[in-house]
Amino acid sequence: MLSFWEKDEFLNYDHIVIGAGIVGLSTAISIKESTPKARVLVLERGTFPTGASTKNAGFACFGSLTEILSDLKLMPESEVFNLVKLRWEGLQLLRARVGDKALDYQNLGGYELMRSPDMTAFEEMQKVNELLLPLFKEPVYHDRTSVLDKLGFDSSKIEGLVFNPFEAQLHSGKMMKSLAALATGLGVEIFTGTSVSQFDEGPDGIEVQTDSGISFKARKLAICTNAFSKRLLPEVDLAPGRGVVLVTKPIANLKFKGTFHYDEGYYYFRNYQDRILFGGGRNLDVKGEETTEFAVRDLLINKLKLDLKEMILPNQKFEIDHVWSGIMAFGPNKQPILENYSENVHVGIRLGGMGVAIGSKMGFELAQRMLR
Ligand SMILES: Cc1cc2nc3c(=O)[nH]c(=O)nc-3n(C[C@H](O)[C@H](O)[C@H](O)COP(=O)(O)OP(=O)(O)OC[C@H]3O[C@@H](n4cnc5c(N)ncnc54)[C@H](O)[C@@H]3O)c2cc1C
Repeated sequence: MLSFWEKDEFLNYDHIVIGAGIVGLSTAISIKESTPKARVLVLERGTFPTGASTKNAGFACFGSLTEILSDLKLMPESEVFNLVKLRWEGLQLLRARVGDKALDYQNLGGYELMRSPDMTAFEEMQKVNELLLPLFKEPVYHDRTSVLDKLGFDSSKIEGLVFNPFEAQLHSGKMMKSLAALATGLGVEIFTGTSVSQFDEGPDGIEVQTDSGISFKARKLAICTNAFSKRLLPEVDLAPGRGVVLVTKPIANLKFKGTFHYDEGYYYFRNYQDRILFGGGRNLDVKGEETTEFAVRDLLINKLKLDLKEMILPNQKFEIDHVWSGIMAFGPNKQPILENYSENVHVGIRLGGMGVAIGSKMGFELAQRMLR
């Protein structure tokens, strides 16, 4: 039973945002930056954000060479360019907002390991560099096969190396904590442990109902629930996709630093201090990993361990410290969904494997729609 005080102070807002991932928090921050007096509430079902934003690998990336070539097969050049632009601008907004120190942002560069079927990508590298030139003002992808031997990988399995000096890495936990602190500092209210069950639009606003039985009211609503959106939007064209990550214990004399990708981005590893953080393998069973359940299957983790042992650290001892999973969202191509569900309800979802980059810009765009 609610008190008069609770009814008076806790239930009514100008804007409600569902989901406290990077998109939800960025939306709330952008609203407050434009209209400091607006009453903004974020509702999050987890004790802290519990989807992808706190569970990812922390690559500050916008696409490897083979990923961009694969996107060019599905989308026109202008769309691919605009998507890279969204990611790059999203990263710059995140950095400007949070600061590199707070993000533990380290511009150590990114590399793509080219195996035999990937080698033809070198022939198209210049074309991709020309496509991205208006954004980066210099070539993004460089052939660094000459330094491959120094990195300690099994050279019989990798034939080429592409370097991208613009790619970086960050600490996802620090990123999300900083965004939450920024939001609350601006006056955003965040209620965690609050799962939204449905919303109804009426003549005097939107009623947002929660599993606890408490309903909130707002003039405008943003849905930022990414992979979990079907509960609120059953018709939405989106499939969840689980990603698995492991981290090793510290490794003595680790020979490389930076972010690394292979197999069109399906596998990704990086250093975190002197550990390796390694994720991927979803392509081994895309259908089986199309789930919102957090779990780690042997099929995937065993493949990651095998690639670590045979290809990435062939002559080094390592121990696995921890494994986990997170859930992202996929559609027919890599375009996220940014749309108006109605005049007062807006949706920013379907973020796949590069949401750290896109998230801040998505939130900004969503906020502009909320403020119209
Ligand atoms: C394993 C893994 C590795 C990744 N690596 C990278 C990487 O290195 N670089 C990169 O750029 N991207 C990476 N990503 C992708 C990136 O993390 C996501 O694209 C991004 O975090 C999506 O943010 P979001 O805010 O849209 O979704 P989420 O972070 O999933 O946030 C949605 C939030 O909504 C909440 N929610 C859901 N339903 C409800 C409800 N009914 N009521 C209330 N709250 C609800 C959830 O609890 C969740 O906190 C990775 C993802 C995974 C899973």
